[in-house]
Amino acid sequence: MSASAIPPGLQGPERDITCPACRKPCKYGPSNEARPFCSLRCRNGDFGAWATESYRVPAAPDPTAEQDSEGD
Ligand SMILES: [Zn+2]
Repeated sequence: MSASAIPPGLQGPERDITCPACRKPCKYGPSNEARPFCSLRCRNGDFGAWATESYRVPAAPDPTAEQDSEGD
């Protein structure tokens, strides 16, 4: 008989979370350097490439645009 009767989910400090970027289930713990994201890609905002497609808004005239004197 051994003392390895560790219940699933209690084998470490990690816990299950949902990546705030891509909504995929991932781990929050020392082994996940990108926490609370699922990956460094999500943490770095790479997901924005497709997210902007969904959240894109029509370009509205900016009344303060006249102050743009920084050039391109
Ligand atoms: Zn993610």
